[in-house]
Amino acid sequence: MSNSTSNHLLVVGSVAIDWIITPEAEREESVGGSATYFAMAGGGLAPIQLVGVVGEDFPREAVADLEARGVDVDGLETIDGGLTFRWKGRYHENMNDRDTLETHLNCFEHFSPKLPETYKNTAHLFLANIQPSLQLQVLDAMAERPAVVGLDTMNLWIDIANEDLLKVLKQVDILMINEEEARQLSGEDSLLAAAKSVRAMGPSTLIIKRGEYGAMLFGPKDEDIFSVPAMPLAKVVDPTGAGDCFAGGFMGYLAKQGTGLTSANLRTAMMWGSVMASFCVEGFSYDQLRGLEESAIASRFEQFVRMCELPR
Ligand code: AMP
Repeated sequence: MSNSTSNHLLVVGSVAIDWIITPEAEREESVGGSATYFAMAGGGLAPIQLVGVVGEDFPREAVADLEARGVDVDGLETIDGGLTFRWKGRYHENMNDRDTLETHLNCFEHFSPKLPETYKNTAHLFLANIQPSLQLQVLDAMAERPAVVGLDTMNLWIDIANEDLLKVLKQVDILMINEEEARQLSGEDSLLAAAKSVRAMGPSTLIIKRGEYGAMLFGPKDEDIFSVPAMPLAKVVDPTGAGDCFAGGFMGYLAKQGTGLTSANLRTAMMWGSVMASFCVEGFSYDQLRGLEESAIASRFEQFVRMCELPR
């Protein structure tokens, strides 16, 4: 492994323009995408390299926002005359459930990830939500198997790209999915049974995201079960991207530590995931992550740790 990339974190995923409707507000041109949120959240913890594709309609200011978070955007391709991936969703009154109203693949349809040479020895890789066939291509393009590989997916791919998804699963260390996806993938109702079944598919570690109820970690050892709450917030404005920001905080901490999947690293990474997700949902898009001071992040992390601590 090359020293220069041992704490780097490569993410491949969607870079999008969303149209978000919540019971209280609406934003039509909201910059989103799994890789965007991941990078904005993880950028403060580890140097991130981003692979994705956008069209000419993607706002230049959003690229500048990523760069301001220290994200290397050499792997973000712009298609001349193309349109960015677009997704439209509406949240229910509970702000947890949502319906997808529209998905336009646009430049994603013919996307084939191209990795700059400088990304190919990166030690930490996160395959954010995107077609499993593209996730496989990225794994194949790496010069060597990264030390830690994480993966996110969604119900759509469990349904329509199951075969490719099972192939990727065999090659990853950590899978992050939500409760419903864990049940769908495993066919089990109990989360403990689902975790056993999913870990037998490849990933030694499974993280089940539970929205406002936090997240659970299973593995790599059977006794390694850990649960974190979500940070209680006075107001949730837009939950879009919370899962990706959780992943960014989680993987960012693991990359920063650079010492693998120890129980202590995984547990602390869960806390960082929850803290970064909490900033995300306080505003539309990644508004609350833009320009976020290190001191504000550190102070919320401390508050979160105190919230979970037993008196000594
Ligand atoms: P999350 O709220 O963490 O599930 O992530 C929301 C982001 O996922 C939005 O910004 C969307 O642009 C993106 N997204 C929605 N559908 C897809 C899809 N089929 N493939 C990749 N990204 C998607």
